[in-house]
Order: sequence, then C-alpha cells, then structure tokens
Amino acid sequence: MISEVKCPICRKLTPWENNPCRPFCSDRCRLIDLGAWTQGSYRIPAKEMDIDLDDEDDEDKESNN
Ligand SMILES: [Zn+2]
Repeated sequence: MISEVKCPICRKLTPWENNPCRPFCSDRCRLIDLGAWTQGSYRIPAKEMDIDLDDEDDEDKESNN
C-alpha cells in the first residue's frame, strides 16, 4: 500500500493520503509540472515518428550509406 510518494518535481517524500496535490508535495510543484507541460518539455518526440517527412539533416547521413 502506498503511503508516501516522491514528488516528481523536487523529489521530496510526500504523503499520498489526504494530499490534494498528489503526486506532488505541494501546489507549487504541481504548477511547475503544469508549466512544464505547456512549455512543451514533455512533448512527444514527433521527430522520431516522421523522419521521412522532414529530412533536413538526416538526408546526408542516409546517402553516405
Ligand atoms: Zn515538490
């Protein structure tokens, strides 16, 4: 049973039960994570998915083979 979790932002151990901000230790860390999302830090690496569509620098690498 989970009683404590580590805050993903500041790594502080924080109680799981009765914690409105979980898995974060505080509302501040929750907002930091939220800001990271909106800034695109957690963006899905689309470059890996469509390498063929935008071959700006990858083109030279492939023609060398
Ligand atoms: Zn925290």
